[in-house]
Amino acid sequence: MEEKYFIKTYGCQMNVYDSHRMAMMLEDMGYQKAQNQSEADLVLFNTCHIREKAAEKLFSDLGRALIIKNERAERGLKTIIGVAGCVVQAEDEQILKRAPYVDFAFGPLTYHRLPEILKQIKNKKESGVVDTDFPPESKFDFLPENKAEGGCSFLAIQEGCNNFCTYCVVPYTRGVEYSRPVEDVIKEAKKLIATGTLEINLLGQNVNSYHGEDQNGKERNLAYLLNKMAELDGLKRLRYTTSYPADVDDDLIKCHHDIGILMPYLHLPVQSGSNKILKAMNRRHTRETYIEVVQKLKAANPKLEMSSDFIVGFPGETDEDFEETMDLVNKIQYIQAFSFKYSKRPGTPAATMENQVPEKIKKERLDILQTRLFELQDKFNQKCVGQVFDVLFEQNGRHKGQLIGRTPYMQNVHAVASSDMMGKIKQVKILSATTNSLTGKVI
Ligand code: SF4
Repeated sequence: MEEKYFIKTYGCQMNVYDSHRMAMMLEDMGYQKAQNQSEADLVLFNTCHIREKAAEKLFSDLGRALIIKNERAERGLKTIIGVAGCVVQAEDEQILKRAPYVDFAFGPLTYHRLPEILKQIKNKKESGVVDTDFPPESKFDFLPENKAEGGCSFLAIQEGCNNFCTYCVVPYTRGVEYSRPVEDVIKEAKKLIATGTLEINLLGQNVNSYHGEDQNGKERNLAYLLNKMAELDGLKRLRYTTSYPADVDDDLIKCHHDIGILMPYLHLPVQSGSNKILKAMNRRHTRETYIEVVQKLKAANPKLEMSSDFIVGFPGETDEDFEETMDLVNKIQYIQAFSFKYSKRPGTPAATMENQVPEKIKKERLDILQTRLFELQDKFNQKCVGQVFDVLFEQNGRHKGQLIGRTPYMQNVHAVASSDMMGKIKQVKILSATTNSLTGKVI
């Protein structure tokens, strides 16, 4: 009987991409996807360390996995439990100390070793394997060819970060910046397009610091890569995420004017509107340079709309600093955003800063910020009513005969549509809007 795997993914799009690549490795080894944990012979948790209590959440999920493992054992079935991702890199051997029933754990840079690790465990040569190397080889050179899961695919082009924002663990868990060679990216993109992808989202922790080599060993920037991608037959939509404001250069801005398939929506995390807080965060932009970049981008493509990330209650944030964030939100008029209360990450400089903001104040500020961000999101969505958008259908809706797709602005659109429209782009007239989604009619 074929063995089955179950992967639970936490966190960012990079983790979603990594899980997809791990699933493909497992399928190459003959595993099939399980519908739930109890039918899985291999359970893998791909973890994220960016939010508070990430490790606690993992251990509570592992506790549940142990119960299922024991139930399966009573039925004579063996279960291998593995943990992947940034929590492993941060917690290292602690995982196996606290959860000794975990069979293996590896960080985000070594998951290409998954088949080898599984072989060792199955041959009983090893148990409790922990691999948190920063390996000299690139995992991308060892992964099987990527293929599309639907009309929209992620493609990792860059990993790691050299910025060391004082609140962030990424430089410690994903290591220093690494960019994949241009040809590797183009090859993977062609494969994705050949297997049904219409939209590619180029991924990286700091994607616009991309500096991959071309065939002649010359370093190329993201603008060069975007132009190469735009030449690919069959690709209809192009995006890139996540960008660092100080690394948006003129070449990249020009792409937003020149490349028709580059979507008019950009996620550009600002984090705070106060220069004092930005400095304490070790961000290399100020509110003024950020606003200038947004103005240039919008001049390059007047249809461009922005989204962002915010942290409220960073150590030392006063009411005045917070007001500056609110002022920036009103100036930029974001159409979507992610916002969080600051929470300490062990090992990061901000965790030991004085002037930590009390929880109550953080919560009040987050409420005020989110209320305004939702108002702006709703305002934009309402403005879309009556307009026609190209919508890429990606999943089934809750109701029979309904599909859910995305506009160029990443809004979810619900529409009555036949199943053969899945994975295709159709023109949809927007009939109504809420803060979170649109409803439309295929025309
Ligand atoms: S830019 Fe800052 S927030 Fe983003 S991954 Fe790098 S260190 Fe973390």
